[in-house]
Amino acid sequence: MHEAIFLEPVFKEMIWGGNRLSKDFGYSIPSDKTGECWAVSAHKNGDCRIRGGRFDGRHLSELFAGERELFGGIEGDVFPLLIKIIDAKEDLSIQVHPDNAYAKEHENGSLGKTECWYILDCDRDAKIVIGHHAKTKEELRQMIEQKRWDELIRVIPIRKGDFFQIVPGTVHAIKGGTLILETQQNSDITYRLYDYDRLQNGKPRELHIEKSIDVIGCPHRDVGAERAKEQIGGVLREHLISCDYYSVDRLEVKGEAEFSLTEPFRIFSVVEGGGVLDGVSLKKGDHFLLPANYGTYRLSGDMVLITSCVVSSERERK
Ligand code: ZN
Repeated sequence: MHEAIFLEPVFKEMIWGGNRLSKDFGYSIPSDKTGECWAVSAHKNGDCRIRGGRFDGRHLSELFAGERELFGGIEGDVFPLLIKIIDAKEDLSIQVHPDNAYAKEHENGSLGKTECWYILDCDRDAKIVIGHHAKTKEELRQMIEQKRWDELIRVIPIRKGDFFQIVPGTVHAIKGGTLILETQQNSDITYRLYDYDRLQNGKPRELHIEKSIDVIGCPHRDVGAERAKEQIGGVLREHLISCDYYSVDRLEVKGEAEFSLTEPFRIFSVVEGGGVLDGVSLKKGDHFLLPANYGTYRLSGDMVLITSCVVSSERERK
């Protein structure tokens, strides 16, 4: 039987970051302005190392390049997904991501970015930015040029456990007081529309107004989450979303249950509590993947996991 592959996160300091990745998850972080934990990543800007087992110390990108059978032999130059935990102590910039076609043409063949957010925790009055109020591109351009941000930006209240799918072209921002688990395409292309006129090292961060206007969808349309629930033994499985790039579920383990791996590989993040995977103990903050042919697996304990896999239509299209 194959073994689970555990990953060591990579941390990113950000002007809006905080210390909850240490306080809540027990990670050793570089400073009190740590914004992102790249928990499962083979991206060149933050390539996770394997922790323990026969691949100990190797990078996920090396495994994906050299041991493709672990990933069910899927095609593609880069590992397709990227999982992050984001600690937003302050507001993130208001931003938008391109789709595959736009990124390919304008960003050296890079992938676009579809992402989704599971709200791990947030302040009681926390809010988030998703969408905008411009009805047409012309109105959008006008509101941006006249800096009518309050009129343009759509702000909505959030609660712990909420889930949002953010497709390319969606104006969005995580706001302060929010801890999020993000599942996304493996891409780092962000167009910054507005950064609250903040300074970093005495200078404003770069904005990308024209590219933002190019890719923002008008008018905004929400993508609803699915959230179908199924009780499997001692595990409540809640399906959060399926799209062309990933399928994401939330698993609430209270007891035990057995599953079988039918996908090329599956990613897990323990976001609350602790438990056991086939005799291996798990705690909050652990991230691992089960390689192809792992077969059946048993989860037990008292914990919550977010799990994702790639979707077969994406593999067939490449
Ligand atoms: Zn984003």
